[in-house]
Amino acid sequence: MNCPCGSGKTYATCCAPYLEGKALPSTPEALMRSRYVAYTQNNFDYIEETMGGVPLETFDRKHTQAMAKDTEWTKLEVLSSSEEGSRGTVQFIAFYTFRGEEQMMHEISTFEKIKGKWIYVGGEVS
Ligand SMILES: [Zn+2]
Repeated sequence: MNCPCGSGKTYATCCAPYLEGKALPSTPEALMRSRYVAYTQNNFDYIEETMGGVPLETFDRKHTQAMAKDTEWTKLEVLSSSEEGSRGTVQFIAFYTFRGEEQMMHEISTFEKIKGKWIYVGGEVS
């Protein structure tokens, strides 16, 4: 099975070890890809565990779960990614359908490495 994150690798050699808690993503992009896959699997534990700062404070799990029922994630396109020290950004477009209608979301996400672990700390949607 190809990894849903669109890396071209198999799921087992791409995002599976992160989602199964067997390894930590070594780059912001790897974390971002694994979080996208978590959304495709409705893995809300993983989504919550990999958040910090404002996104975590404002994370509404019930709302996210309710939205997920009407959402199908179809494709991820990573446009660019960078990291400098313990900060990183990833720009991407996520394609999905919401109640059957095709949608897309363009976001620049910010990540921070805390105690050796990359976490999602902010995003700007445009
Ligand atoms: Zn992947």
